[in-house]
This record gives sequence, structure tokens and C-alpha cells, in this order.
Amino acid sequence: MAFDSTICALATPPGVGGLAVVRISGPEAYSVAARVFRPANAAKKVEEQKGYTALFGHSFLRGKALDETVALFFRAPRSYTGEDVVELSCHGGRAVSQGLVQACLEAGAQPAAGGEFTRRALMNGRLGLTQAEAVMDIIGAEGRQGAAMALAVLDGALARRIGGITGELTALSGHLAAWVDFPEEDVPELEAQNLLGSLEKARAQLQTLIDEYGAGAVLRQGVTTAIVGRPNVGKSTLLNLLSGFERAIVTPVAGTTRDVVEQTVVLNDISLNLCDTAGIRTTEDLVEAEGIRRSYQKLNQAGLVLAVFDGSQPPAKEDLELAEACRGRAAIAILNKEDLPLVPGALGEEQLRPCFREVLRLSARDPQSAALLGQAVERVLGTAGLDPEAGILSSRRQLSAALTARDALDAAREAFENGFGYDAVSVCLDDALNALYDLTGQNAGEAVIDEVFEKFCVGK
Ligand code: GDP
Repeated sequence: MAFDSTICALATPPGVGGLAVVRISGPEAYSVAARVFRPANAAKKVEEQKGYTALFGHSFLRGKALDETVALFFRAPRSYTGEDVVELSCHGGRAVSQGLVQACLEAGAQPAAGGEFTRRALMNGRLGLTQAEAVMDIIGAEGRQGAAMALAVLDGALARRIGGITGELTALSGHLAAWVDFPEEDVPELEAQNLLGSLEKARAQLQTLIDEYGAGAVLRQGVTTAIVGRPNVGKSTLLNLLSGFERAIVTPVAGTTRDVVEQTVVLNDISLNLCDTAGIRTTEDLVEAEGIRRSYQKLNQAGLVLAVFDGSQPPAKEDLELAEACRGRAAIAILNKEDLPLVPGALGEEQLRPCFREVLRLSARDPQSAALLGQAVERVLGTAGLDPEAGILSSRRQLSAALTARDALDAAREAFENGFGYDAVSVCLDDALNALYDLTGQNAGEAVIDEVFEKFCVGK
């Protein structure tokens, strides 16, 4: 698809930096560049420059030199957008970079909208939709694994994974259609076993993708984490251990952490967005009561709960209530103060196991505990077994398409089992295929593409 306009934008963040890059893309990219950039070697002509080459020179605004500049040239279709592209690198100051953008605009380029370069890459077939989405994920990745995941999707891992499933479903759908439409042609009837087997296989692959989404999201964005427990069990000490510095005030007086302190700590490459909360206990003190209300609220909203107990003491009523509240959640029980002698009747692992996926006995004062906790967090959130390079669903949009496809395969199986015939199965298969084509963008409409590009920044 050819675009008439030539666009330009600052591709680096605004502000002061070593370099700023202004990107120009479109049919007039070279002539715009020729009007704002003059090579130091007068024998060189910008408009004749081959792709994958560079020139040193100066950039100009209204005839006045702006800065020393390096121009990188890309010839269509071998560029990010698939069009002629010139990237001008100047020093990263606001005046120079804004001046260079201004010069390009005055030379005939249009200001690029957010994501317009990537949108052109998509329209020109340089990228698929899942790959375009991965561009933003790479830019926004908080951790290394999140970035690795996005890179794999950008390399096409997710598109290939979905392609494997659509390939099988297309073969199946073709076979069914042939059998239904040309009964006289000797098309072998599908064995029920084979049909069900193929449906089940595709469904299982989709289900794996769906199951991995949550863990993938954790690696990309981190997880909202609540540290909860009665006063004095060691919540602030645990927070300090995780953050590596004295943040919360640790005191032996019960009830000093009254409010919700929020900060992010990184544990095993997972960002824990922490909410330290007031102690959970029944109290007449109104402020404390408000803190407790909020900590239960946080517990309900959190993607990960670290429930702290004093493992050296017998449990209080509130401990058991807290454990109950954690049932069925991604929650880890921490039996703290392992270093202290156990008082008779001390809270034990076996009492907590029914309510928690992981029970750890440790001391929040011991720096080694962070590693133990990190491993438990990985197990509970399912990131331990996740291969970031496998091609993982990376947006709600993709997830919802995968869910639609899975449900359509369930409907196909039900249609077959209830004797509705191959026609009905075929219709459901087509629904599944359409959902998967939406996912990869093969038949995504303008609205879907607009939604994807809404999140993009200018210059990408
Ligand atoms: P919070 O009210 O739950 O935030 O509890 P704090 O973190 O303020 O801890 C209460 C008291 O327990 C402080 O005196 C801590 O030093 C102490 N404490 C916390 N963790 C441990 C531990 O693992 N072992 C021992 N012996 N004391 C601890």
C-alpha cells in the first residue's frame, strides 16, 4: 500500500540527551532530507544515496546551520516502514531537535501521528499485527524477561504459533467442506476420532496460550502485591528486605504502619507493586480500623498476596481469618521469625497449607530470605515455567480473540457430539479461524488497527 504523504517526527524522547533522531518516511523522504541536510563531502548527493549508507554533514533551518548531523539512508522496501526512510541524528538538545523537526516540516513533510511509522510498516507488510503490538511492548518493558518476550513476538514467534493452529484448522475445515459440498467425489469421510482429535489438539494449544497470558502479563507489567498480616509480625521488615533499604519505619510497637505505602521492588525480574498495609486486627481505634479495611480491600485487588504470620507464636483469631481470606488466591504464607525459639502451640505449616499455594518459613531479617521468596513468587505466578521466547499473548485484545477461538472449538465439538452434522461443525470452525485471523491481523478491520495504535507514541 503506497502512502502519498511523507511524515517526520522526533524518534527519541524529548529532552536533553547524547543524540536525538528525527525520522522521515515516505515518497519524498530523500528530497525532504536534501532540503534540510547538506553532506560535508560536496561530491555526495543526498537524493542519489543508496540504502543502508550514512553521510556526515550539517542540518539547516531556514538557511542557518543547526547542528552537525549524521544521515542514515534506507531505500524502500528495505526500511522499517517499507518506504524510503532517512534518519537524521543530531545532538540531543531540545532546541536542535525541535529545530530539525521544524526544518523537515517546512521542507514539505507532515507531522507523524502516534505509531504512524509502525502503522505504515503494518500496511506495507513489513510487520504483522502481533509484531506491531510487540514494538510498544519492547519500548515499555520493565524487566529483561518482559523485553525478551516482546522481542520473540516481534520476531514473529506468536504469529508462527497461531499460524500452526490456523494451519491445522484450515486443513480440517477444507476437508469438511469438501465432504459436505462434493459427496459424490469420493472425499473420504472424516473418522469421528480424527475430527475430535484435531479439535482437541487445537483447543489444547489455544488453552496453553490463554493460560500463559497471566504469567506473561506479570513479566511485562509486574503484579500488584499486598503484604498483609497482624501488627508486629514483620511486614515492614519484609518490605525493607525486598526494597534493600530502610523505607518503612520498623518499630516493636504494635500498629505503627497505619497507612498504605506503595512502591515497586523487583524480585527475580518480576516487578512487585507493593502495598504495605496497616496491621490486620480487630480494633476500636478508628484510624487503625480504616487501615484494616483498606488492607482487606488491597488483598482483594492484589494479583499476589504475601500473608505474614509470626511463626514463633500460636496463631491469633485474626491470623486464621486472614488465612481463610487467602484461600483460592495467588497467595504465599510467610511464617516469619524462624530464628526465634518456638513457643508451645506455635503456628505450623500444616495449619496454613489448606489456604495457600506456598508456605515458607523464614526470617525477614535474613537477607537470604529474599531469594527463597523470589522462587515461591515465580511458582505461584506461573512465571517459572514460562519460556519468554515461545511467543506469548501480549494484550487483552489478543487474549479475547484466543478465548473466542477456543469457545468456537468447544462449540464445534458439541455440535458434532450432538449430531448436528458436519455443516454445523464447519460453521464453528470458521468462527474459530476468523477469531485467529483477527488476532494476527489477517482480517483485522480499521477499528482493531486503530485500537492497537492508540497506545503508540509519536516517532514509533
Ligand atoms: P509489622 O508491624 O508487621 O510491620 O512488623 P515490623 O516489621 O515492624 O516488625 C515488628 C518487630 O518484629 C520488629 O522489632 C522487628 O525487628 C521484629 N522482626 C521482624 N522480623 C523478624 C524476624 O525474622 N526475626 C526476629 N527475631 N524479629 C523480627
